Amino acid sequence: LFAPERANSKGFDLYDPADIARIDAARTPFKDAQWTAAPLLAEERDDPERKALAIANPARPDDAVGTVHEAAQADIESALAAAAPWTASAAARAETLNRAADLYEENFGELFAIITREAGKITEDAIAELREAADFLRYYASQALTDPDAEPCGTFACVSPWNFPLAIFTGQIAAALAAGNAVIAKPAEATPLIAHRAVRLMHEAGVPRTALQLLPGTGATVGAAITSDPRIDGVCFTGSTGTAQAINRAMADALDPAAPLIAETGGINAMIVDSTALPEQAVRDIIVSAFRSAGQRCSALRVLYLQEDIAEPFMKMLFGAMDELAVADPWALSTDVGPVIDEKARDEITAYIDAAEKAGKLLKRLAIPEGGTFVSPAVIRVSGIAEVTREVFGPVLHVATFRASEIGKVCAAINATGYGLTFGLHTRIDDRVEEIASAIHAGNIYVNRNQIGAIVGSQPFGGEGLSGTGPKAGGPLYVPRFRKTETVSQPA
Ligand code: GLU
Repeated sequence: LFAPERANSKGFDLYDPADIARIDAARTPFKDAQWTAAPLLAEERDDPERKALAIANPARPDDAVGTVHEAAQADIESALAAAAPWTASAAARAETLNRAADLYEENFGELFAIITREAGKITEDAIAELREAADFLRYYASQALTDPDAEPCGTFACVSPWNFPLAIFTGQIAAALAAGNAVIAKPAEATPLIAHRAVRLMHEAGVPRTALQLLPGTGATVGAAITSDPRIDGVCFTGSTGTAQAINRAMADALDPAAPLIAETGGINAMIVDSTALPEQAVRDIIVSAFRSAGQRCSALRVLYLQEDIAEPFMKMLFGAMDELAVADPWALSTDVGPVIDEKARDEITAYIDAAEKAGKLLKRLAIPEGGTFVSPAVIRVSGIAEVTREVFGPVLHVATFRASEIGKVCAAINATGYGLTFGLHTRIDDRVEEIASAIHAGNIYVNRNQIGAIVGSQPFGGEGLSGTGPKAGGPLYVPRFRKTETVSQPA
């Protein structure tokens, strides 16, 4: 596919003292700032029916980050009535989206501060968020030009998760806008502040307010309303498999049968490490895959299969590496693992770890700081992936061992989960890479590296089976899904 020249965002290097100083200088003014999120409608309106809720820092409950005014019924109605596809030319849309990427980068200090204080993300994750968001804007801008005369579907509902509150939020919107659609965006309940700031930057860049509206609120009110209204022509969703299935059913009842659902959902992701793997590298990649972002990525490693012959020394190394992890307030640059998103998540994941401990399966658990919604990074022994019956969205790694002769069975068990998002493999046998990669059904397969952190434009992301509908985000097939395709045939 034709793709005009474009480069991914450079981001920052946390090993470079100059970059650290830049980050500190830019985000410090926002250390105690507070933000407000409210519906950003095409036509300004105030509504006393809006529910106001305080947003606190998950790492420090006494740190007030701001207030969200959740959309009232009348806001939802206004948004649906005012939504109008973006009629500017593809070139003009691309230019505007590129400008939005520049504005994101210019405001990095404020965006980092919100991401860290509202979503509990460590600075390395905040950097990755900003880069990915800017990359999505620029990449989809370039994709707008691949078929400049194509028609948009109409109005898209974009429903996004809190775990990538800037990157995925922006990516969904940018793709829909690149194709010329109108967007009504519902951010996750936990992260409306960063969403509000992002939409204001996109408006400032020149995206018309009729083409991009924001409705903060719950899934039960805003989400359900905008994904089942006949004025919606397509839905883009990232979140749980169950919610995606519910949206699919609601769309089938209320929307045009041609309305696309683009859904990125969960996974129970495995990694196989055989006896030829480089242990130091595999340990490092496991730590990143399982515990980075406190395990709150749908791509995260959940079940490690370790070849029996190396299991004992390998686990010692892994536990040693875990002991080096700093679980702390994510504002500190030295923090490796921040809090999970909220109390409910903390309590559920902690109860899961406690149950494993009671059952005698807990192999390792780290200490955690007081206050805040921290969860101890933990390792749980299982006999196989079938024992992991749901996606535990936190820093919990399950470990099973296998004999060399059982590799086929292991692959079959991994496929039998029905999910197919990411898969990791550490081996130095080339034939095995081919054999296993073709046996495993997963959208993103990572060999001899960690298994998180897809890259826009070069390593698109998305799964199969219960893990999503495709097409992959950050890939060439994504924007076309937001378009209508019409064929005109005429005899010469
Ligand atoms: N794209 C992210 C990654 O590759 C995961 C997205 C998600 O968690 O929804 O790590």
